Amino acid sequence: MNTQTLESRYTSGLYAKRPVTIVRGEGALVWDDQGRAYIDCVAGHGVANIGHSHPKVVEALHAQAERIITCPEMFYNDTRARLLERLGNLAPGMERVFLCNSGTEAVEAAIKFARFSTGRAGIVAAMRGFHGRTLGALSATWSKKYRAPFEPLVPEFRHVPFNKPAALRETVTEDTAAVLLEAVQGEGGIHPATPEFLQTAQEVCRERGALLIVDEIQSGMGRTGKMFAFQHYSVQPDLVTLAKGIAGGVPMGAVLIGERVAPLKPGIHGTTFGGNPLAAAASLATLEVLEAENLPQRAAETGAYFLERLRSIQSPLIRDVRGMGLMIGVELKQKVAPIIQGLMAHGVLALPAGLTVVRFLPPLVITREQVDEVVAAFEAVVSELG
Ligand SMILES: *Cc1c(COP(=O)(O)O)cnc(C)c1O
Repeated sequence: MNTQTLESRYTSGLYAKRPVTIVRGEGALVWDDQGRAYIDCVAGHGVANIGHSHPKVVEALHAQAERIITCPEMFYNDTRARLLERLGNLAPGMERVFLCNSGTEAVEAAIKFARFSTGRAGIVAAMRGFHGRTLGALSATWSKKYRAPFEPLVPEFRHVPFNKPAALRETVTEDTAAVLLEAVQGEGGIHPATPEFLQTAQEVCRERGALLIVDEIQSGMGRTGKMFAFQHYSVQPDLVTLAKGIAGGVPMGAVLIGERVAPLKPGIHGTTFGGNPLAAAASLATLEVLEAENLPQRAAETGAYFLERLRSIQSPLIRDVRGMGLMIGVELKQKVAPIIQGLMAHGVLALPAGLTVVRFLPPLVITREQVDEVVAAFEAVVSELG
């Protein structure tokens, strides 16, 4: 049986598939089984920030796999210790680090830490926000499409309109454990927070004894032009959730824990694979590459160029072009599916964000020439359709 028939037969059925078999990746490119190259603005949903199969990550994985692959956090491990130090020093005020295996797990952990630390239950999240799909994280996620089949969800979650500071002032109370926000909403359509909104979130949290959780799972690891998107704003989160780009494509999540979070006690949370040396080695190599290749800065520059080029396209189909660094959305006056398909025919992989936004999350190593190709393909597709 060929790959697609075989995979279709046995897959869970949870994923809408595209009819292409990806077998190899390098930098910002991936290849299918026919040898056709694509410029990858999906990047595993914003995972391959340092580019696909970066040689430094390959080397680190190889070396670590030969020494030891698994070692739970009940024991010390040299690779993990170095990673914890590095993660703990990525942003000022972050004291400790919890390691896990995915984004939704990082959000679950942050919610539990906030509840444990404050002794309160309430979580205030934002409309259009996305935080993952396990039941706790799903309770913070906004979209009905993801939530409705699984209700009732975890109680005491409330949603306020994004970028409406007054709504935060009304909703955050002495019963609120945390405010949980993305600095740039990804899945919800690429909406950067206004400075006033994030600053108000911090202010009301401090005033009312709640914690501020910033979800950097998509916007972090250099994507928006700084290591974390919140660093574009003058705010100090108490908990920061990370995953996606954190380990060069290897599954890993993390929570950075700030000084306002009460000390966590042994046993209140944990996970078997957390702090796994193989993932830790990949993450350590990824952080070194981000720094050595100056990738946040490159994301800022290439992203500004990408945005400017997209904004120069004249098309009646385009409603808005927005983004920060290499987290870019083009809002259309029609559904995105035909555009995504058209781009693929032109050798470009892109993502939807909701029904009407085309989302570009390329590896931060994408070149200007590749951006030019993506923009030319986009322009061709919208002119074919509009
Ligand atoms: C992808 C994402 C998640 C969930 O991460 P998973 O690894 O898919 O569980 C949570 N929050 C944000 C902002 C994301 O983009």
